[in-house]
Amino acid sequence: MPRSPAAARGRALRPAPTPEAQVAAMREVVRAGARDRPGVYRMVAAGGEVIYVGKSKRIRSRLLSYFRCAYPEEKGARILREADAIDWEYEPSEFAALLRELRLIKRLRPRFNVAMKRDAHHYAFIKITGGPAPKLVVVRAAGSDDGGVYYGPFVGAWRLAEALRELNDALGLRDCAQRVTMHFSDQADLFAPPERTPGCIRHEIHKCLGPCIGGCSERQYAARVALARGFFEGADDGPIPTLTAQMRAASAQLEFERAAAIRDKVHRLEVLREQFARLRFAIESLSFVYPVPGIDGDDRVYLIRRGCVREEQAAPRTVADRERLRALAAATFEPVTRRPAPVTVPAHEVDELMLVSTWFRQHPDELDRARACGLAIAS
Ligand code: SF4
Repeated sequence: MPRSPAAARGRALRPAPTPEAQVAAMREVVRAGARDRPGVYRMVAAGGEVIYVGKSKRIRSRLLSYFRCAYPEEKGARILREADAIDWEYEPSEFAALLRELRLIKRLRPRFNVAMKRDAHHYAFIKITGGPAPKLVVVRAAGSDDGGVYYGPFVGAWRLAEALRELNDALGLRDCAQRVTMHFSDQADLFAPPERTPGCIRHEIHKCLGPCIGGCSERQYAARVALARGFFEGADDGPIPTLTAQMRAASAQLEFERAAAIRDKVHRLEVLREQFARLRFAIESLSFVYPVPGIDGDDRVYLIRRGCVREEQAAPRTVADRERLRALAAATFEPVTRRPAPVTVPAHEVDELMLVSTWFRQHPDELDRARACGLAIAS
């Protein structure tokens, strides 16, 4: 992706002998060199480690605010104490700065950004784990290292976990530790199968198929996992129709307590289904061409598909530019129109999806503009 031709850099080094003098020297370099326009900055420790990456609509004001921290425990003061240099670059717009900041953080993983992200546990994801008997779990962050499939982000981890427990029970999926060894009924054992897991009663009360003790074949278990995926992706209603029928039967037999318990299960699953419908809508509605006016005429065009920026281009200025952009847009959006978009978000795209969806939620006028301009380019 091309970098902005208007991008510029400044670097405030620490040349002075005492910490106070070094901070004063950095402040002077910022005062002398930084401009008030969108950009990103890096705090760099001795030895070159980037310890923090930030962005601002007004780089100069933001950087100078670091030098006004009143208390030593403030975030800015702590970062500045460890910084040996400040490095900044300009971006053509606030959106460009946001995107650049995110990508730099993902690439460099500065320790102050990572620590702050750990504190901000706002979101939860549903993960289908890998392995021979996958299970459904709620996790706080989407990882990228384990072959799992992630759905989300969602708000409300506790409610999500409750709904997932209902789904697990209804489909007979395991919820035990990942290290538990599986023994499917169709598995050829060279040695005698181990003793059945003594403490687990989920199989006995028919809430788990029991893949650990030969209670089902690998194919039977995989079919239940596929049902869960179908439920998440809106292909079917999962166990809701069966549970609803059970609820009606219990009610007809005057077993009102049981009927009420099943009703609550159905309700939790319906809430989960609704959350997935909203997620699907959010992902599918974030696919368009987004033109962004830039500082000093550095206008850009972003091709956003499923909440992620797939291409960034200078805004077209000639008929030939427009034709090139049209062809690029056609290639970028073609897969969306040809097949139904799954609700799965690859782990490495989650942060960008969250950034883009938050941006457009906070700037609904930009979304309207993007849709209008995008249609004009695509027509
Ligand atoms: S029955 Fe076996 S696979 Fe199922 S939850 Fe219990 S230990 Fe895990």
